[in-house]
Amino acid sequence: MLEIKNLHARVADTETEILRGLDLTVQDGEIAAIMGPNGSGKSTLSYVIAGREDYEVTAGDILYNGESILEMDAAERAASGVFLAFQYPLEIPGVATMTFLKTALNSQRKARGEGELTTPDFLRRVKASAADLKIDMAMLKRPLNVGFSGGEKKRAEILQMALLEPKLCVLDETDSGLDIDALKIVADGVNALRSSERSFLVITHYQRLLDYIVPDTVHVLYKGRIIRTGTKDLALQLENEGYAQIIGEAA
Ligand code: ADP
Ligand code: MG
Ligand code: MG
Repeated sequence: MLEIKNLHARVADTETEILRGLDLTVQDGEIAAIMGPNGSGKSTLSYVIAGREDYEVTAGDILYNGESILEMDAAERAASGVFLAFQYPLEIPGVATMTFLKTALNSQRKARGEGELTTPDFLRRVKASAADLKIDMAMLKRPLNVGFSGGEKKRAEILQMALLEPKLCVLDETDSGLDIDALKIVADGVNALRSSERSFLVITHYQRLLDYIVPDTVHVLYKGRIIRTGTKDLALQLENEGYAQIIGEAA
């Protein structure tokens, strides 16, 4: 699904590399957790995979289903099945959440050469996914993320993901700002989308999320490189010992 080779990246028009030789492979159907201290480059990795314009890859490659995606813009990557749930979802005043969802879904369908969904078809899908995520339909009439609580924003992100049915889902600290009930709802939403043809990159600072979304592999990102790869036990080890031990061993 995803093969990242010796990836170096920086913010455009800056000198400092944030990703500095990152290697990562994610198989079809795999849930890979990326953990790491603040500032290690986790969000940068998610942006570079999604194709954010203001980031620049200076070396290495990102292969998605065997093909480099570096020349594809963010919209092309999204149309091909790459989805990023943001750490800090953007507020979009003036655009009702429902309108946003319908536009996102239909532009993806258009890019794939599929016809637009009829309004009843669209509503049926939204209602089913919203119910799973315990999202009140009234919330979807409000402008996207404006005045949403932390938990509502994260659930709205997962709702987008459920509707778009991506192949590669990148979740950037989806657990931040969630209380335990919201965390379980989000985790259930993600788990419901698990399939042998869909892979997840679950980025988190804390082990707690991984009690609910159980990963196949855990990778530790530090200073722009993966310094350790293991199973879910590695996350427990980090929870008990902190990052210092593993960072020390890598040095
Ligand atoms: P994480 O998500 O792991 O906390 P980030 O990817 O957000 O890490 O940031 C990694 C590093 O890149 C940090 O040192 C951060 O200060 C730096 N960085 C992030 N965004 C920018 C930017 N727009 N310009 C310059 N440096 C940045
Ligand atoms: Mg951070
Ligand atoms: Mg981050």
